[in-house]
Amino acid sequence: MKISAILAAKRAKNPREPIFSFEFFPPKTPKGEESLFQTVKDLRSLHPDFISVTYGAGGSTRSKTLEWVETIKRDHGIETMAHLTCVGASRYEIAGVLDELVETGIENVLALRGDPPRGSTSFVKPADGFGHAGELVEFIRRRQDPVSIGVAGYPEKHPEAPDLETDMARLREKAEKGADFVITQLFFENASYFDFVRRLKAHPDWNCDVIPGIMPITSKEQIGKFILMCGAKIPDALRTAVETASSDEEVVEIGIAWAIRQVKELLVGGAPGIHFYTLNKSPATRRILEGVTPLPHRPHANP
Ligand code: FAD
Repeated sequence: MKISAILAAKRAKNPREPIFSFEFFPPKTPKGEESLFQTVKDLRSLHPDFISVTYGAGGSTRSKTLEWVETIKRDHGIETMAHLTCVGASRYEIAGVLDELVETGIENVLALRGDPPRGSTSFVKPADGFGHAGELVEFIRRRQDPVSIGVAGYPEKHPEAPDLETDMARLREKAEKGADFVITQLFFENASYFDFVRRLKAHPDWNCDVIPGIMPITSKEQIGKFILMCGAKIPDALRTAVETASSDEEVVEIGIAWAIRQVKELLVGGAPGIHFYTLNKSPATRRILEGVTPLPHRPHANP
């Protein structure tokens, strides 16, 4: 089922019912694969609306993305979404990936530009390829593939963008070109998300759901990584709590408690659902979802 249809069906049935999704990456080793199979089994009982699988920049895991979205959908009966990037691929190669996705019945694609491959500092548009995610969205729509298209959004601005206003204008272009919904980069301050959605909705033609992406902090080292990777703002209270924690277990508890508070507030504030960056592990995501159930009262429909 298309994610656009899942969102519409939930809205029609009960506007207060959020959607939940989990993100995995294709493991590189047989042990990692075994562990991901277990994670999928563990999280299945939480009835995610869909599972998404990332697309590696290097090339080696690309066919694995297709394998995993097909396997999860076929063997577990859970709807899936394949991430797809423009990195190092001509439009001919991208067309081949889309053909395979459509042939195997995958109905959802997260259209991304992708990060530069390891060792490169900036994204280089491939020969006969695409320079921005918007071009990929346009390409998929021109092909008339029967898929729902998601795109990435950055409540705290994409690191390469000169400012948030310009970045949001680019996001609106992706929507105009045919994206159905947005999944955000991780963030720890909900005010960023609410402000982002409010500014997008100020444009009368904006009609995409913006699903917040959430990832709990589970180690002290992650703080530095998140800042480096995506420029995430770490609120002082969270940073101090993590940095002064006396054990790894305490850090995990702090991270989960923070995420539960974030998810509750986001849903009460009207977010259409939550996309969990799981890092292929189940315990933290399970604890967060169990921590927000029963779901808080949502006074309004989706933003
Ligand atoms: P774009 O939308 O193309 O934006 C990239 C930059 O270019 C931004 O600064 C934007 O403001 C600017 N821009 C956009 N359009 C134009 C234009 N027409 N002219 C000028 N400037 C423009 N990476 C992976 O490699 N694999 C994954 O599976 C993956 N999954 C992700 C999932 C989510 C939910 C998110 C939020 C990110 C994911 N990423 C993934 C990371 C993503 O690829 C990077 O953040 C990348 O740097 C930007 O991708 P984008 O699709 O947002 O690019």
